[in-house]
Amino acid sequence: MKIAIASGKGGTGKTTVAVNLAAIAQLNGKRSVYVDCDVEEPNGHIFLKPEIDSQQTVTNPVPVIDDEKCDSCGECGKICHFNAIAVILDSVLVFPELCHGCGGCFHACPKGAITESPREVGKIEAGRSYQVEASGKEGIGFIHGILNLNEAMAVPVIRAVRKMIPESEWVVIDAPPGTSCSMVATVRDADYVLLVTEPTPFGLHDLELAYRTVRDLDITAGVVVNRAGTGDSGVGEFCAREGIEILAEIPESREIAEIYSRGSVIINEDEGFASIMAELMKKVEKRIMAEQR
Ligand code: SF4
Ligand code: SF4
Repeated sequence: MKIAIASGKGGTGKTTVAVNLAAIAQLNGKRSVYVDCDVEEPNGHIFLKPEIDSQQTVTNPVPVIDDEKCDSCGECGKICHFNAIAVILDSVLVFPELCHGCGGCFHACPKGAITESPREVGKIEAGRSYQVEASGKEGIGFIHGILNLNEAMAVPVIRAVRKMIPESEWVVIDAPPGTSCSMVATVRDADYVLLVTEPTPFGLHDLELAYRTVRDLDITAGVVVNRAGTGDSGVGEFCAREGIEILAEIPESREIAEIYSRGSVIINEDEGFASIMAELMKKVEKRIMAEQR
């Protein structure tokens, strides 16, 4: 089962839910894997402290122009929707940081003047985390992608991370915040999406955007309300109106905040939080099984 944890904006507790949902599953005897696709700012490792046993670079194929063959016809610039290649006077300019590596210009060039060159954009690290007590020898599977500094293109790294996800009983994918193409690339083949939000007008606004994105992808979503009991009733009213289930409410808690700030896995230290996560796990599992029937 692949469960993506998303949120319309950062700072809602998305990674807290993702890490602890992976951890509680392991504690309950499942083979669990945590996957961090928030490649611009991956921070699940801070809590899971994985032992990394493999690493690979991620490259993006960018065009290289053979000036001998190029006749400056401009076809490559016309086909590129990302403004990553342009013909100015009789020169072809390539902007590698904007290139999505889609291959459009290679195919469009009538002179065969374009070849591909791999350009490093990030890396992937994988290993196992042994932070969860009683998690057994196997530990929680761990994969994260890291986008290189000053790189704009997160999607190639996310795609590479997704390719590495093993078949497992329980895969929790930490999505990038927002509703950009990075988020879409992360959640698109998930069995279920959990949208983490806060009960505030800003939280509601971002939840609405994230929910619409997930709904357009035809993936079932449920909501986790973090810092429940603060703010207002807008999120609850929106979910009732749209028929979206609120699967968990995490109360505002000084103890949880302190455990978080120490960089620890919260289910190890807070029984109340562990019960919320265990209940959430069961509900998600039930919803996915009902969908798959
Ligand atoms: S399509 Fe090919 S020949 Fe035409 S400008 Fe681009 S690189 Fe040159
Ligand atoms: S590979 Fe795609 S994104 Fe990159 S320059 Fe060519 S057409 Fe544009």
